[in-house]
Amino acid sequence: MSRVLVIGCGGVANVAIRKCCQADDVFTELCIASRTKSKCDALAEALKGKTKTVVTTAQVDADKVDELVELIKSYKPDLVMNIALPYQDLTIMDACLICGVNYMDTANYEPEDTDDPEWRAIYEKRCKEQGFSAYFDYSWQWAYREKFEKAGLTALLGCGFDPGVTQAYCAYAKKHEFDTIDTIDILDCNGGDHGYAFATNFNPEVNLREVSAPGSYIENGKWVEIPAMSIKREYDFDKVGQKDMYLLHHEELESLALNIPEVKRIRFFMTFGQSYLTHMKCLENVGMLSTTPINFEGHEIVPIKFLKALLPDPASLGPRTHGKTNIGCIFTGKKDGKDKTYYIYNVCDHQECYKEVESQAISYTTGVPAMCGAMMLLTGKWTEKGVHTVEEFDPDPFLDALDKYGLPRSENFDPVLVD
Ligand code: NDP
Repeated sequence: MSRVLVIGCGGVANVAIRKCCQADDVFTELCIASRTKSKCDALAEALKGKTKTVVTTAQVDADKVDELVELIKSYKPDLVMNIALPYQDLTIMDACLICGVNYMDTANYEPEDTDDPEWRAIYEKRCKEQGFSAYFDYSWQWAYREKFEKAGLTALLGCGFDPGVTQAYCAYAKKHEFDTIDTIDILDCNGGDHGYAFATNFNPEVNLREVSAPGSYIENGKWVEIPAMSIKREYDFDKVGQKDMYLLHHEELESLALNIPEVKRIRFFMTFGQSYLTHMKCLENVGMLSTTPINFEGHEIVPIKFLKALLPDPASLGPRTHGKTNIGCIFTGKKDGKDKTYYIYNVCDHQECYKEVESQAISYTTGVPAMCGAMMLLTGKWTEKGVHTVEEFDPDPFLDALDKYGLPRSENFDPVLVD
């Protein structure tokens, strides 16, 4: 028995909500609230007669703490699932604290306006001190640790696939497969083809900001930053085949370095096709990825927001995307004094996802872990108070839930390593 408030009704939320409604013994009542209420109403209508979960809808601007507080106070949920955008993480955490409700999200905080001088000063100091220049980092949300602990509440951060499941894979490797882990390589492969020359699989603004930023990895406790897309490897992925992949900065590197401190090197690679990279570079060169507003014929426009309006909606890629994703982690380390390697990953088929929940696999591989993470909190499997990332919790019940709800793990005890 539980009451859950989901904020956001985009690609990922659509999957998470449909999956919650499959587990209607746990998710008994659910309110979908977003900026555009008509999207929430359309999903609620599509779910009618297919679930015992009692689904209601609401309109909310999650940038406004007072609107959130009013909604949370009137709905009285046990958990707020933030599946809007990373821009709303802090306002939703504030509202949860005011109302005494548990919180979770799928991506760590970054500001919408990266030109805000107050934010910029803190950001530039962090770049110098830490050595990586991504716009997002955990410091903003980790600053809430004491407040959540004192309030006896849990905030679960980054519970999608990566971040999210990749950290559960790390916790699982540490718990069952290794005494000490030396290296972790996170490999995110999308072998899907949607037939467009250029489109992003999740929110274009968030996606393009992430991919066009400098890459970085952790070596011997320090960040090493490299120009965007300057480290390339090839890898032969199970059920997908040979792909080019590039080293990116990714948020889970930061928390993994803290929570598995013995690890000497942590890297993150993502596959990209040549067409995607050529388009992105061209758009970047002409200024279309900029977040700084410009004046155009008397109107103020933000170039990347304008680009978002032109690109296909990620939610519309479902019917036309074919192929598979393969996301997982390769570990090296020691067990019982001997060297060991281990690879744990999931393979997910775009068309199978579409048949089940009318979405492509990127939203599916994010929405299912969000639902499973919520299930861990609601069923008392994960009870730690404070602000935590996924690797801090017991991975076993979470991976069992993922096996059951559509993202089963595969293992390889003799994987090809990435040089
Ligand atoms: P979409 O753009 O498809 O959906 C975002 C939703 O949030 C929309 O419904 C939007 O409403 C709503 N929203 C935006 N701003 C507000 C606001 N101020 N108040 C209320 N609602 C708002 O994004 P995705 O579904 O692709 O991504 C959702 C989240 O998942 C993002 O944070 C993304 O970074 C994360 N993600 C995480 C991954 C992981 O593996 N951990 C992988 C992929 C994504 P409207 O319809 O009005 O625009």
